[in-house]
Amino acid sequence: MRCPFCHADKDSLKVIDSRACDGDRAIRRRRECLNCKKRFTTYERVEGSIKLTVVKADGRRVPWDRQKIVAGLSRATFKRPVPDEALQRLAEEVEEECFASHDREVPTAEIGRMVAERLRRLDQVAYVRFASVYRQFNTLDELIEAAQNVIDARRFEDPGQGRLFIDPAGINGVASETPPAAKPRGKAKRPPADD
Ligand SMILES: [Zn+2]
Repeated sequence: MRCPFCHADKDSLKVIDSRACDGDRAIRRRRECLNCKKRFTTYERVEGSIKLTVVKADGRRVPWDRQKIVAGLSRATFKRPVPDEALQRLAEEVEEECFASHDREVPTAEIGRMVAERLRRLDQVAYVRFASVYRQFNTLDELIEAAQNVIDARRFEDPGQGRLFIDPAGINGVASETPPAAKPRGKAKRPPADD
């Protein structure tokens, strides 16, 4: 194993935390690279318990390896404000979806699509970086078009608020999660506080 960031060899990798996960079927290890000081996570599990095969673009077949998704995400989110836990969670979600929708083989393009779709909601810059690798844009125009799609989607999804839909406040008079410091706008009906 090598550091996914600087490719230092295993002598530079130190385990800083180790714990059972997936109902004791796997061991999660948090590692630190002594060379570049970055941290990453590895999973060790019994071979054969996972039977999905990944079909690469050139037709080669390799066993499913969630760590490869995490490594790709780590590269895409380098120096971006995305916590490692969010990447692990994203990789787990994609794994669950792949295993639920495929019973033998899954093409890398499809995994890439699932990852990209989730990453777009997490961090737009990381999404464009990731998409530029997995979709292999041939021209700068294609890359710009992908970035523009992200910007357009953002107007609807409001990722800064961490939710997909803005509640239409005023329809039923109850606004959700109104911040305490928010200026009261309009007269939403609220139940008396000290009743
Ligand atoms: Zn390193």
